Amino acid sequence: MYHCFISDLHLYQNSDSDTLFNKFINDYKDKLLSLYILGDFFEYWIGDDTASEYHQNVADKINHLKQFIPHIYFMHGNRDFLIGNDFLNTANLSLLPDPFVLNINNSQFLLSHGDSLCTFDKNYQLFRKVARNKVIKNLFLSLPKSFRYKVATELRKEKEKPIQTNNNIFDVNDNFAKKMLSDYKCTTLIHGHTHKPKTHEYEGKTKRIVLGDWHQSAEILLIDSNASSKLIKYY
Ligand code: MN
Repeated sequence: MYHCFISDLHLYQNSDSDTLFNKFINDYKDKLLSLYILGDFFEYWIGDDTASEYHQNVADKINHLKQFIPHIYFMHGNRDFLIGNDFLNTANLSLLPDPFVLNINNSQFLLSHGDSLCTFDKNYQLFRKVARNKVIKNLFLSLPKSFRYKVATELRKEKEKPIQTNNNIFDVNDNFAKKMLSDYKCTTLIHGHTHKPKTHEYEGKTKRIVLGDWHQSAEILLIDSNASSKLIKYY
């Protein structure tokens, strides 16, 4: 039995990631003690009042999955940080703050979506701070749905270019990550967001495990009850 960590599914109707997520539910429902969805579960989210039949369907699947896996957690990503209590309650999901410290067999794991770790990208960090301000969030959510949809479409165009380039201002700042690990007294940082799945060892003492995004395949992390971890390709 495992604790499982996934992120960046970017779910939408009729997507490869949706097909893979359905397969994942079948393959893993009997093998997991807990499931952590570390952000960007959906391709975008512009308010619980815009949830579609598809979103309700995903909520139903999570509810069904809860009969097998009692602990399913969700952390906001940069694309779905507007998921609110209405959807969380419908899906029966527990929200985790970012970052979150998880203890497994006396090993301390630090969980994050990962966008807050990309501190070289000053423009994004400013946007993030403003967008997550409560007043700004509520103002945005009070706008007409059609307008919110337009804003989301524009933002997605903006955000899609950086990841594949060599320019590492869009990647995680390792010094920042090391300091966070030390501040929170954790040995392993687990995050997604960059879509660059890999385990980074820090001087043999601590490490940073990056989850992959979901298409026809995904990189997911399994941790057993002895706290040993493996990042695996799932397809
Ligand atoms: Mn992200």
